[in-house]
Amino acid sequence: MADNHSKEQRSYNMSRIRSKDNKPEDLVRKYLFSKGFRYRKNVRKLPGCPDIVLSKYKTVIFVNGCFWHKHDCPRFVWPSSNQDYWIPKITRNVERDIINHNLLRLQGWNVIVVWECELKKSVRENRLERLIKEIISSQHEISK
Ligand SMILES: [Zn+2]
Repeated sequence: MADNHSKEQRSYNMSRIRSKDNKPEDLVRKYLFSKGFRYRKNVRKLPGCPDIVLSKYKTVIFVNGCFWHKHDCPRFVWPSSNQDYWIPKITRNVERDIINHNLLRLQGWNVIVVWECELKKSVRENRLERLIKEIISSQHEISK
């Protein structure tokens, strides 16, 4: 098959493949599972196809890459080349995130975003402990 992909598309695909090797969402899933939480993965019928859905806690978790979702952290920098491709692409991602999170909240879901940079070894434990508190406190809000 001829390679009709543009250079940008190819590098995008390559980064998708790389990101599958060390899926940060699996790290979060494994931690939650070890703490006794049960969840569904990649629920397509919910807006934005959340990575983790904890129905019991009416909570969805997105594990977001800092680059793809334009996190306000040092990991996000606009690429210096192919800006005509990247700026609209990343901007669309951010817009979609806002829309999806709002739709989920309207449906009564507690929406939590875990950023890839928060899963660095040095800060991971702290973030994951806080995540559990965020999940559990959401249940109290619902039962009020
Ligand atoms: Zn970040």
